[in-house]
Amino acid sequence: MYIELVKYPDVFLRSVSNIVPFPLEEKTQRLIKWMYKAMYQHHGIGLAAIQVGYQLRMFVMDCTRSQENPKVYINPEIVKKSDETLRDNEGCLSAPGKTGDVSRHIRIILKYQDEDGKEQRKTFYNLEARCIQHEMDHLEGKLCIDYEKGDYSRDKHKSQTMVESDFRAKSDS
Ligand SMILES: [Zn+2]
Repeated sequence: MYIELVKYPDVFLRSVSNIVPFPLEEKTQRLIKWMYKAMYQHHGIGLAAIQVGYQLRMFVMDCTRSQENPKVYINPEIVKKSDETLRDNEGCLSAPGKTGDVSRHIRIILKYQDEDGKEQRKTFYNLEARCIQHEMDHLEGKLCIDYEKGDYSRDKHKSQTMVESDFRAKSDS
């Protein structure tokens, strides 16, 4: 079954996601499996819940693409980041055909909850660290293509959201 993703410029992607309550509801467990499926189907290495239509603070990731050991990160929080950053071109499954140059910390420590609600803390490097920072942006309603217009700012975000609502209103009619 083909899983449709929420795509730019849908304003839904601009919403700030909510904390996931524990213990996980059965529907949330099902949603996680759905997210794994969507990530592989669209050949991504990471996917946030908002991209399949849920405003929940969680994302899945598998940078190996092996489909053997995908992981889910629930209520994630970056607790430490390296001073050193690297600028690279990023794409997003929710913005096909578009990319943005984004500067990301090359090493981060992530605090998150696993499916059992247990708090975990792990260090990530390079591609995984980049992917996590990209997914964390989704939780705040940001997209990698926002950075292309210069440094991210709330004001620019606001005006862009307005343009997008406008677009949506027009395309709906
Ligand atoms: Zn994305």
